[in-house]
Amino acid sequence: MKPIKKIVIAGGGTAGWMAAAMMAKTMGKNLQVTLVESDAIPTVGVGEATIPPLTTFHNILDIDEREFMATVNGTFKLGISFENWREKGHKYIHSFGYAGKDCWACSFVHFWLAGKARGIDYPYADYCAELLAAYEGKFAVLPNGRMNYAYHMDAGRYAKYLRSLSEKLGAKRHEGKIEKVNIDKSTGDIHSLLLQSGETIEGDFFIDCTGFRALLIEQSLHAGFEDWSHWLPCDRALAVQTKTVATPLPYTRSIAHDAGWQWRIPLQTRVGNGLVYSSRFWSDEKAAEVLMANLEGDIISQPKPIQFRTGTRRKHWHKNCLALGLSSGFLEPLESTSIHLIQKSLVRFMQLLPSSGVNLSDVDEFNRQTKIDVERIRDFVILHYKVTDRVDSEFWRYCKNMSIPETLQQKIDLFSDSAKVFKVNNELFGEESWIQVMMGQGVIPKSYHGFADVMSDQELGEFLASIRQSMAQMVAKLPSHQQFIDHYCKMT
Ligand code: FAD
Repeated sequence: MKPIKKIVIAGGGTAGWMAAAMMAKTMGKNLQVTLVESDAIPTVGVGEATIPPLTTFHNILDIDEREFMATVNGTFKLGISFENWREKGHKYIHSFGYAGKDCWACSFVHFWLAGKARGIDYPYADYCAELLAAYEGKFAVLPNGRMNYAYHMDAGRYAKYLRSLSEKLGAKRHEGKIEKVNIDKSTGDIHSLLLQSGETIEGDFFIDCTGFRALLIEQSLHAGFEDWSHWLPCDRALAVQTKTVATPLPYTRSIAHDAGWQWRIPLQTRVGNGLVYSSRFWSDEKAAEVLMANLEGDIISQPKPIQFRTGTRRKHWHKNCLALGLSSGFLEPLESTSIHLIQKSLVRFMQLLPSSGVNLSDVDEFNRQTKIDVERIRDFVILHYKVTDRVDSEFWRYCKNMSIPETLQQKIDLFSDSAKVFKVNNELFGEESWIQVMMGQGVIPKSYHGFADVMSDQELGEFLASIRQSMAQMVAKLPSHQQFIDHYCKMT
């Protein structure tokens, strides 16, 4: 086995520079990190909404949050507002917060349902600080992680920021277009990358961050692709930026239309917009018309069309190559999970990193864990389409009637029967996310856990009132999101 001393990263989008920064920071003393990218091939340029674990990634990199937010034109994100998903005119927020207080046997939703059954009928949001703050447009970074949040950021600025950090940490950037991937015929491993200039970049291990092209993992190593477009029929996007016309909301907006949905990601001085749609149900012209009719503020960038296929690489790690980012597969950005999957795969790779050479057992374990991870996220995204009252267009009728993975059906059945949901196998979305989205999409549990009925009416009333009161007091003290940005992270 060949010891891993030199890592070559192909591609310098968000995935490539996240990998370079992480490797240089944590293993830079023992590993040589080289990144090859071509200025002639643009990055995908979207990917601006994130989820809370990114704060952990930044902690590993010792990133200063204020500096980061100022550099990437960032705003804070408490969740996602899903509008017109359950039915036209309906809206709910999937927040990063946890409602109420859990007991060891069941989650808070059981107590909330018991309260409703006994006439204590307050919105679920009243029991969750992040939900309340999101609805009121408030935000602050609180000590001890009492407010769970993520970021909205400018994707181009983020890649540049990570590049500068990586280079300071010793990663080497190599400009050039990769023409050919040289394979060692005896082992089937990648030996080197041949650049257009004639130069050859050799390495012991290669990370494919070439985006949808998947130049190494698919075009050269043929790792295979599992297509999920029958469950997630959207296959195109049109992205455009507009000038900010209102104070930024502390959440992403996802607005469903007749054959797809539109995102609005508020940054400090501009808004990232896009429409994700299905080409089976809408022409590109129709999609452009819908997006343009639903923008606020002047357009400040050329509309950018993007085509994609939803699914996953059969092996994310194959031979001496790891696929990261879009080269590893794609789930539409409905729950902002792509950047997170880059981080998760990087961390998993570092945990399994074989210093003395690639062991098949490490590769198998990596692929096994990644498969579970991606499939559970896939289920969560499908949930939004499947559980809907919308039947007003062909697209929505297709989604409502399509068959779904058994793993998802089990989750929906368990929750609708008895309000139970369990986080297993270290999956990304925990009980609270499933609860908020299932209830938001209209799943009403038929019963709840008997634990909640152990309390008398008075005890339950006092218990629920004390939570509502403490949430309301906490949120009342918060500044507005804009005030907090002005104080904490004004753009440089
Ligand atoms: P890219 O950005 O495409 O980078 C590819 C790199 O490879 C470039 O540097 C290019 O120069 C290089 N390259 C390619 N071929 C060659 C070659 N032959 N030689 C040399 N270099 C080469 N994720 C989220 O987490 N949140 C979101 O809100 C979100 N929204 C999205 C919306 C849409 C419509 C899409 C399509 C994706 C979204 N994503 C989102 C996903 C996110 O954009 C990506 O996960 C992230 O940007 C990583 O992209 P990447 O680095 O893998 O690929």
